[in-house]
Amino acid sequence: MIRENGVLHVVATPIGNLGDLSQRAIDVLREVQVIAAEDTRHTARLLHAHGIATPCVAVHEHNEREVVPKLIERLGRGESIALVSDAGTPLVSDPGYHLVRAAIAAGIRVVPVPGPSALIAALSASGLPTDRFCFEGFLPAKAAARRKRLEGLRTATATLVFYESPHRILDTLEDLQAVFGPERPMVLARELTKTFETFLRGTVAEVRAQVQADPDQRRGEMVLLIQGAEARNAATLDEDRLLAILLEEMPVRQAAALAARLSGGKKNRLYQRALELQRGK
Ligand code: SAM
Repeated sequence: MIRENGVLHVVATPIGNLGDLSQRAIDVLREVQVIAAEDTRHTARLLHAHGIATPCVAVHEHNEREVVPKLIERLGRGESIALVSDAGTPLVSDPGYHLVRAAIAAGIRVVPVPGPSALIAALSASGLPTDRFCFEGFLPAKAAARRKRLEGLRTATATLVFYESPHRILDTLEDLQAVFGPERPMVLARELTKTFETFLRGTVAEVRAQVQADPDQRRGEMVLLIQGAEARNAATLDEDRLLAILLEEMPVRQAAALAARLSGGKKNRLYQRALELQRGK
């Protein structure tokens, strides 16, 4: 039951299975004056399934800035609003940020109604460490920018979580292998809470091989999770810096030999890494 007026409720909705809408979410959606929805037609189907007749207004990335002042005015008049996105938790790779910020700035109470999110659903059943994780959202669409973003994460020790679209999955898996190596454990979580829900668990090379071999594994909605770097791999960052500095002054073989003496690392591995750095990887 809503007991307060003029509240902005941020309401999570199902990511596939309609049964995942909480009773509290249903109550809030029924009782607010208006629902601010990413796609009103999409949300209408959810509301219809639960017999909810609350009117909707569209709030999406193209109109959010212009619609927000009108919604803040309504909240100020004492109306309550529920913000929903097409699936999962609003603001998690979805619209709503500007509305929430404006509501807070206007002194309006913002109340979360928690529920599904693909990121948490994938993480919870992935089998990868969950004590520390880093949500990276969608990777850049352009190949060079994507590689660069991944490079910056190579030595991160927390589990990394990405959203990905089916048409980029093969390219991204190739990039993951190039940056994190073929042996890093990972999980591809697909079609969560839906009929064809699938978890592919293995090394990057194993998951990539399965996705390459089976076109079905490239369909639907997906979350990619990569185990964080081992602490000893994290030290590679310093090795990279060391090699980069030495490479400015001397040839590859000499740089690798000196880096091995200074860091105690294996000469062959440092030589291979020096070659990669020289090629700009
Ligand atoms: N707000 C949503 C949430 O809380 O998860 C995410 C919205 S984002 C625009 C959509 C992306 O989330 C998809 O491209 C996919 O990466 C992921 N996703 C959403 N539903 C999913 C599902 N049922 N299974 C796997 N991934 C899903």
